[in-house]
Amino acid sequence: MSVQTSHMADDIARDFADRLLGWYDRSARVLPWRIAPNSGGVPDPYRIWLAEVMLQQTTVAAVAGYFARFTERWPTVADLAAADDADVMAAWAGLGYYARARNLLACTRAVVRDHGGIFPDSEAALRALPGIGDYTAASVAAIAFGRAAVVVDANIERVIARHRLIETPLPMAKREIRAALAPLVPTDRPGDFAQALMDLGATVCTPRSPACATCPLMTDCRARGRADIERLPVKPPKKAKPHRHGLAHWIERDAQVWLVRRPGKGMLGGMRALPGGDWSDARPSESGIVSVDHGFTHFDLTLTLVRRDAPPQGPDAAAEGRWWPIADLDAAGLPTLYRKLTDKMLERDA
Ligand code: SF4
Repeated sequence: MSVQTSHMADDIARDFADRLLGWYDRSARVLPWRIAPNSGGVPDPYRIWLAEVMLQQTTVAAVAGYFARFTERWPTVADLAAADDADVMAAWAGLGYYARARNLLACTRAVVRDHGGIFPDSEAALRALPGIGDYTAASVAAIAFGRAAVVVDANIERVIARHRLIETPLPMAKREIRAALAPLVPTDRPGDFAQALMDLGATVCTPRSPACATCPLMTDCRARGRADIERLPVKPPKKAKPHRHGLAHWIERDAQVWLVRRPGKGMLGGMRALPGGDWSDARPSESGIVSVDHGFTHFDLTLTLVRRDAPPQGPDAAAEGRWWPIADLDAAGLPTLYRKLTDKMLERDA
């Protein structure tokens, strides 16, 4: 690259960042984990990290209540590291992707044990912590520590794929999107730059009917005005998900129901649940009292509830299970699948 070409690229990048940051200064979303632009506030890495972990695969609206409860109960990384695993799993119930809750605890404990309770401030050191992947390391490095990291979430992917008219299907397009974004990241305000792109994708460059007329990037956006704008970024062809079936057991005694804790590893690992058998491709031969359908990332499940008279016998079974008052099932921290099933059962009995 000649010196002149390099200056031109710098000017283009500066202009892009200035337009975007100017828009952000006027239009930033108010979020509980965020420091408002130009407020002079100092971001708390613990809150930034917690929000980023909660927001993976989930919406801001779904996360807000969980974030408030977590930070009230465990206001610092040391508080969360010292929490009881079962309390954290129960508080996480309903957010899904339960491996993230286990990693959340492992991460806080690594921060306390290996870093004196202070989150490391580089992308590489953050990525070395349990449960922190490329995206979370980059976003925490940028937002909490002002590092010029390249942050690419689904909103940012959409904005850049449209602005640059990248028609390669995902996930192959990720490399192109990253390469297009990297030279645009400013060394001043990289955290606001990342959050501005996230906000633009969430509020202006939306999947359906983007509001191009109000977009700060419209003057040089290559997709603007195209009839097929909603097609971008191009999604990979959908694979049919396998369908599995399973039985859950409703064992009731004296207004209580028998609940177990699922094994630590595997689906819904470590979560409280109704007992039951494995999930498989075969439809169960028993017809149940009620059943629910639930979509996991890689398969759909029909879970059918059947009555059993007594909990399984044996020392392991006793250690894993306990009677729980039916009137207090809300406090059991059941994951969404089992909440749906118990709700349906109780509606039926009402
Ligand atoms: S001009 Fe339209 S398509 Fe282009 S980035 Fe803005 S909102 Fe998205």
